[in-house]
Amino acid sequence: MTRLDLHLHSTASDGVLTPTEVVRLAKERGLTTIALTDHDTTSGWEEAMAAGRELGVEVLGGFEINSETDLGHIDFLVYGADAQNAALQDFLLTIRDARVGRAKGMVQKLAELGMPIEWARVLHFAGDAKSIARPHVARALVEAGHVASTQEAFDHYLNDQGPAYVHRLEVKPQEVIDIIHQAGGVIVLSSPEHSKTTPLTATLAALGLDGLEVYYFDHTAEKKAELLELARQHNLIVTGGSDFHGDKTHAELGSVEVPPEVLLKLKDRIRQRGSA
Ligand SMILES: [Zn+2]
Repeated sequence: MTRLDLHLHSTASDGVLTPTEVVRLAKERGLTTIALTDHDTTSGWEEAMAAGRELGVEVLGGFEINSETDLGHIDFLVYGADAQNAALQDFLLTIRDARVGRAKGMVQKLAELGMPIEWARVLHFAGDAKSIARPHVARALVEAGHVASTQEAFDHYLNDQGPAYVHRLEVKPQEVIDIIHQAGGVIVLSSPEHSKTTPLTATLAALGLDGLEVYYFDHTAEKKAELLELARQHNLIVTGGSDFHGDKTHAELGSVEVPPEVLLKLKDRIRQRGSA
């Protein structure tokens, strides 16, 4: 029986487990197919796929892009793109570089708030990660004793409205969609929750969006029904996953029920994009 989780993070970005450990845990939880979707990098794919071959878990290569756009804040998930595509890797590198500046900005703001942390400790928590992210800053804050947990760091300082927040690199949705399609990838709007989901989906669908992430750990049944209807209207595929990070910030690996037919439709769309 097919059991899926198509939204997972590893130490290649801000997750706690290595790609191999993620695959091993997926095997333990009885998952048959997973997608590794680290932030702005394909660097965990090779290791995860090798572990997948060894353990008999199908591993799809994916990544997540969290972007500021003229349409507001948008999160995308990408599947099936060619990791060797030079334009794609240039684009991901630009985003990762911006993340370094952004994390340094947060460290600066935290110092001004009376909570100094050393940049070297943020780098330490980033470890092998190709992209630096807020959880790395949060873990340095916990270590320095400024907060009791990473959750507290997000709740009080690092969330999008928090006093230490620094904005992301601004990108144009059409540019992102085109780069992904040119690399043969499928692009999905991730966990849309805000009130503008309906017009946003219509706008992005007209720009070439492929899908909506419908099955997500904090989506209500009502939200899922609304997103399924939107996907139907705009001929979009649907995806889903736990957004597992290996800590308590999101959900447990494999904890989100994703219907098996999701995988077939995703693979169909990847084939279409890959041969376009
Ligand atoms: Zn995610």
